[in-house]
Amino acid sequence: MERLQLSEALALLGDGVRAQLPDAHLHPIDYLQAIIDGLCNVSLRDPLTGATNRRHLMTALEGELDRVARSGDAALLLMVDIDHFKAVNDTYGHNIGDLALKHIALLLHQCVRPMDTLARYGGEEFAIVLPACQPAYGKNVADRIREMVANEPFAISPSQSLPMTVSIGGAYALQWIRSTSELWIERADQQLYHAKNLGRNRVCIEPQPDSTVTAEEKELLFSGLVAPGSAYPETTSIFQVTSSESD
Ligand code: GH3
Ligand code: MG
Ligand code: MG
Repeated sequence: MERLQLSEALALLGDGVRAQLPDAHLHPIDYLQAIIDGLCNVSLRDPLTGATNRRHLMTALEGELDRVARSGDAALLLMVDIDHFKAVNDTYGHNIGDLALKHIALLLHQCVRPMDTLARYGGEEFAIVLPACQPAYGKNVADRIREMVANEPFAISPSQSLPMTVSIGGAYALQWIRSTSELWIERADQQLYHAKNLGRNRVCIEPQPDSTVTAEEKELLFSGLVAPGSAYPETTSIFQVTSSESD
């Protein structure tokens, strides 16, 4: 153990984690494992907000795309961007801006389930991955998050609070459409762009491809198969082998 160079790793972990480490001499393997776990945690988190970082987001998205392909459960990606955040910095300074970012991250954290992933995508934009989220519920989930932020102003001081809002864009990963993490983010970002253009403090979710077949479409499909004189097409007739072919 003495031959290992651990001082930098221990410094990165911080006082809180270091105090919890197992005894290095009594339990050397547990000690090293705890250091490795702590370093993984450091490398996957955004230090300002405590949300996971973009590196972790990309891994979570890859895993989710695989899971969707195997299980068939749809998953929703939400991109959440704070509205007019530059004005917060410009008016109150960068330090207050940092605290406002932490406030929003905490609210988002309170909105998500333990199985969801909350990540700081960059600047004042967050991403939320929601596994097993049926398309019928996506808009409601996103609106609940948006309302939570709008209803909980950031307390700059005991006597001053600052109302803040977010715009949210969402897109689903679906079993029958194989995608990439980058494309999934791009689709959700496009919806975020719509939400901004429509006036901010709103949610736009990518419309689902409609896989149902209407009566008119069925009619078109079968219209070429109607035998002269028959009222309705024989749907099995195209698969029947005529006697001359089978002979
Ligand atoms: P919009 O509603 O269109 O999103 O407007 P916006 O002002 O939120 O967007 P814009 O991209 O113009 O500005 C984002 C601002 O976020 C500018 C940047 O300085 C600030 N910002 C990004 N990261 C941080 C950070 O870590 N701390 C602080 N305090 N500000 C940050
Ligand atoms: Mg913004
Ligand atoms: Mg932004």
